[in-house]
Amino acid sequence: MKQVDILEEPILLTPGPLSTSRRTKQAMLRDWGSWDADFNRITGRIRAELLRIIRGEGTHDCVPLQGSGTFAVEAAIGTLVPHDGHVLVPVNGAYCERIAKICRVIGRKLTTLQVPEHQPIGAGEVERLLAADPSITHVALVHCETGTGILNPLHEIAEVAARHGRGLIVDAMSSFGALEIDARKTPFDAVIAASGKCLEGVPGMGFVLARRAALEKAQGNCHSLAMDLYDQWVYMQKTTQWRFTPPTHVVAALAEALAQYWEEGGLPARGARYARNCRELVTGMEALGFRCFLPAAIQAPIIVTFHAPADPAYEFKRFYAEVKKRGYILYPGKLTQIETFRVGCIGWYGDHAGAPGLAGAVAAVGQSLTAMGVRSGSPSRAAA
Ligand SMILES: *Cc1c(COP(=O)(O)O)cnc(C)c1O
Repeated sequence: MKQVDILEEPILLTPGPLSTSRRTKQAMLRDWGSWDADFNRITGRIRAELLRIIRGEGTHDCVPLQGSGTFAVEAAIGTLVPHDGHVLVPVNGAYCERIAKICRVIGRKLTTLQVPEHQPIGAGEVERLLAADPSITHVALVHCETGTGILNPLHEIAEVAARHGRGLIVDAMSSFGALEIDARKTPFDAVIAASGKCLEGVPGMGFVLARRAALEKAQGNCHSLAMDLYDQWVYMQKTTQWRFTPPTHVVAALAEALAQYWEEGGLPARGARYARNCRELVTGMEALGFRCFLPAAIQAPIIVTFHAPADPAYEFKRFYAEVKKRGYILYPGKLTQIETFRVGCIGWYGDHAGAPGLAGAVAAVGQSLTAMGVRSGSPSRAAA
């Protein structure tokens, strides 16, 4: 079989899995034993570094879990919310909806607050519901709703939850490491993220940064053996090992990705690089006639949703194939009512020939429109 050089690989404009550096990939060229002290030192170092990103040293602990991000979200809800708990899930997109579904599947009492997909969740609305229903024990919030790219006001909602004495569980999967979350300023019980998003590791491991006090009272809550974060935490504290087979190569890659994260300048530098990517993308796409689904003020620099062009020659599948031929992988839209597609702004493009990044992606999109006979990216008047 022909070996594909990474310079020929398409750049992933998908917000996880995403394009990773050659250095991160190379970290996977070694096998590790799960009992080996050298491997478990890597686990320990990663846990400490992840905690440092949210400034949670001394108050919180990092509990990693095998699997994709959703596994960690389900584990956090199942472990931190007791059987007789009651979760308020504000919903303005597909990932919020997924948390609501988790609550239904594992049998936690659920109330949803439905918010239109183009609007951030209002802290005032959350406060009204908490005041009206003292049986609500937890709020589960998505920070950046990757379904659209909208940024929800985490800090304001955290203050509301704290003021009312309720727990807050945050799915920060697509924002962690790029947008600030500071445990010293923003009260929460748990922040959940994963290896293969803004930290630019490979997918396969989630982690929960949980307040120690919340973990300590979580024994026996979980509906599942494998998803029990309390058990994983206690075992890891005691033995330094993972409870079940760890995703060794993913852990090694994340350690190397974190080394590059700190070398780059940590969160401010990572966030600034993505913000530049996002500006470059939006400016270029608008010049081709495309329109963003969200106004700039509520758009996170993580993933951008664009309206589909109105031109009858446009069709997403063909568009995807044309852009892929030119070296970039797009993401389909996730809205139910209108046709859109999404472009991620996160990932490492520096190893690719000429380091084309998002400007190269915009050029590929322009050429693809021409190849399809689409005159402009402009959406119908009704959509825009
Ligand atoms: C990526 C992501 C997840 C996890 O999705 P998986 O497919 O399980 O990795 C959860 N929430 C948000 C907001 C995400 O962006």
